[in-house]
Amino acid sequence: MKNLITKFNEEEYYSRDISLYPSINSLGYELYDSNDNKTLSVNEKNEMIIAVEQKISEMLDILRISRQDPNSTHTPYRVAKMFVNELLRGRYEAPPQLTVFPNRKHVNNLIISQGIDVMSLCSHHWQTISGRCVVGYIPGDFVVGISKLSRVVDWFARRPQIQEELGEQIADYLQEILRPKALGVVIKAKHYCMISRGVEESEEDTQMITSVMRGYMLNDMSLRNEFLTLIKDF
Ligand SMILES: [Zn+2]
Repeated sequence: MKNLITKFNEEEYYSRDISLYPSINSLGYELYDSNDNKTLSVNEKNEMIIAVEQKISEMLDILRISRQDPNSTHTPYRVAKMFVNELLRGRYEAPPQLTVFPNRKHVNNLIISQGIDVMSLCSHHWQTISGRCVVGYIPGDFVVGISKLSRVVDWFARRPQIQEELGEQIADYLQEILRPKALGVVIKAKHYCMISRGVEESEEDTQMITSVMRGYMLNDMSLRNEFLTLIKDF
C-alpha cells in the first residue's frame, strides 16, 4: 500500500493564509463561523447527518478502526446524529422564544438566575466545555421568565465555542431583547481539551471564569460588587 502523505509540515500549516480556505462546501452551501446560527429544516438536518456519517466512516477507516467490530458498526451514524441534533444544535435550531413581561412595579434591583448549566464544545479541539452560568440584570421596561434564560444559554452553548465569545453572545442577545439597565453574565467552566489530553496533571481542577458586564454594571462599582458577592461560589 502506497503512503500517500509522507510528511506533515506543521509550520507551513499554521502559517497558511486563512482567506484561501473555502467559503462554500462541496454541496454548495455557505460556510459560517462555528458559533454562528443558520436555522435548518428537519430535511436539511437529515441530509447533513447522512453526509457527516459518510465522512466519519472514512475517518474510522483512516484510523484503522474496523466497523466489523460490533461496537463500532453504527458509530459513524450515531456520531453524525449526535453532532447535528445535540452537540451542535445551537447552530441549526431557531432561537428560543423569549417572552418578556412589562416591569409593572418598576423593579430597580438585581434579578439573578444562577446554576444555569453550560454544556458546550471548544472550537479549538472539539472537546467538552462543562460548567455553570449566572445571569444577573436590573430590568428596564421588561422582565423575562427565569427558565427562559437557560434556553438562551443553551442555544448559544450548543455550538463549537470559545468561552469568552459565549458570554458575549449571551449578553448581546439579552441586551437586545430585554434592554436592561444593568447586565452581568458570568461563566465558570471546565475545559476537557485540557483535562482529557492530560496537558498537566492538575488540570482537572482548573476552571475558566469569564464575566461580561453591561450597562450600569460597567461603571457602578458598588453594584458590581453586590452582584459578585451575591453569586460568590456559584
Ligand atoms: Zn480546546
